[in-house]
Amino acid sequence: MLKVTINQEECISCGACWSDCPEFFEESEEGTSQIVEQYRVDGDPTRGEAPDNLEDCVRTAAEGCAVEAIQIE
Ligand code: SF4
Repeated sequence: MLKVTINQEECISCGACWSDCPEFFEESEEGTSQIVEQYRVDGDPTRGEAPDNLEDCVRTAAEGCAVEAIQIE
């Protein structure tokens, strides 16, 4: 399991993360990235936990974010 945090203040709404990993990331109403409801922690769209089967695509999305707005641990 991977812990994921999105810094929406850094996000430039490029769409790369939800293109790379649409099972985990989606576009918010503001146009920034957020975590899909299913994987949020405490309902927070900026904090989530990725199950094992989504770890690879979440890592790819985090590495592909040009402004490093996606933190994983
Ligand atoms: S890849 Fe980064 S900048 Fe682009 S939408 Fe996702 S979080 Fe925002």
